[in-house]
Amino acid sequence: MLDKVLIANRGEIALRVLRACRTMGIKTVAAHSTVDRDLKHVRLADESVCIGGPSPAESYLNMPALISAAEITDAVAIHPGYGFLAENADFAEQVESSGFIFIGPNPDTIRIMGDKVAAIKTMKEAGIPTVPGSDGPLGDSEKDNIRAARKIGYPVIIKASGGGGGRGMRVVYTESNLLSAISMTRAEAGSAFGNDTIYMEKYLEKPRHIEVQVMSDTHGNTIHLAERDCSMQRRHQKVIEEAPALGITEEIREYIGKRCVEACKAVGYRGLGTFEFLYQNGEFYFIEMNTRVQVEHPVTEMITGVDIIREQIRISAGEALAYRQSDVTIRGHAIECRINAEDPDTILPSPGLISNYHAPGGPGVRMDSHLYSGYRVPPNYDSLIGKLIVHGDSREEALARSDIALSETVIDGIKCNIPLQRNIINDAAFRQGDVDIHYLEKKLALA
Ligand code: ADP
Repeated sequence: MLDKVLIANRGEIALRVLRACRTMGIKTVAAHSTVDRDLKHVRLADESVCIGGPSPAESYLNMPALISAAEITDAVAIHPGYGFLAENADFAEQVESSGFIFIGPNPDTIRIMGDKVAAIKTMKEAGIPTVPGSDGPLGDSEKDNIRAARKIGYPVIIKASGGGGGRGMRVVYTESNLLSAISMTRAEAGSAFGNDTIYMEKYLEKPRHIEVQVMSDTHGNTIHLAERDCSMQRRHQKVIEEAPALGITEEIREYIGKRCVEACKAVGYRGLGTFEFLYQNGEFYFIEMNTRVQVEHPVTEMITGVDIIREQIRISAGEALAYRQSDVTIRGHAIECRINAEDPDTILPSPGLISNYHAPGGPGVRMDSHLYSGYRVPPNYDSLIGKLIVHGDSREEALARSDIALSETVIDGIKCNIPLQRNIINDAAFRQGDVDIHYLEKKLALA
């Protein structure tokens, strides 16, 4: 097994990775920025190294500083978490060429999947159903682009090939808006992602977001861990996730799971991966693949009992998967609420001192959070401060336990979105499973 892992991330995911390492007997190094000295995982790690100033560019995106930190601490592997450098192929390459193990897929796979046009093409060839679209990047010919949109049928969505985090997308309902939308999205993509490649897809009006978790080892074994439903979104960002997805029968699960497994084998995939689909009228439409651990991985852990990060680390150490497909069974239902330091009405970030913190508890309740009383949430990073994951034998039980756990949670000193989460958990349509990816935005617009 690996001797020592450097954790190149912060917050709840750094703590989650630290916990996995500790249970595996692996030593840990916390690489942190100057404002993150007091993070919980920094205090719990065997060693810590300050890698730079508060801005991500100075620290968590600072490749030479991270690699030097691994060198001076004799770490053998680097875990990138999610966000920051987790899907940066150049970083993965530098980590490997510096003699360390990158805990993730190989750099070439990351590069392909990070370019959505290339990812869609690769997955389509591997037998994955995709969204009807431009089948490649949009060129400069206005005539060709108008023709492509007519062929797909309005509404269409213009997307940045290098986009992420729900940014770089524009919906077009009528031809008169098409060309301006294309040029605006192209300009934004160039400045935000340094890549002005854009493409067009059919805009699906009532889909759910359903994604499939896969893992591949380096011995030719791939399994899937069923699906998650992440339809509850705001600004194309997930707010609540659950597993399994309502209405996905064992038969459908096996159909889509098998396709994902076969696609992984076809591309020689390694490590954890998530196939993201839109699901409408019983059909799956691939939108992208994430080549890292996802924020919402715990709902899958709760229903399968698999420690996903432990498996990820074992794979990177060259070990074979500890599970065969037939070992994976689903028990009960799990729901995750993302807790953000933000004003629940305006969504503006709300950093500051946590004067009082009480985590919820009880059967089936798991709080993945780095918070403690006296911790100061810095203004420099993403507003995610915790994830409340609740398991129940049935969805009803998971919903009831979620509501109680949310009501027990005390986070004083800053604003957070717990009121919004309770509102959603008690929403009649959500409880009935009668929601698509546009539901939350519509509900909030009416409120
Ligand atoms: P990102 O990498 O920024 O997360 P995705 O391609 O995964 O971008 O899309 C994020 C979200 O945007 C989806 O979950 C969905 O809500 C919405 N979306 C993306 N493509 C479409 C589409 N063709 N039709 C409708 N909604 C879409």
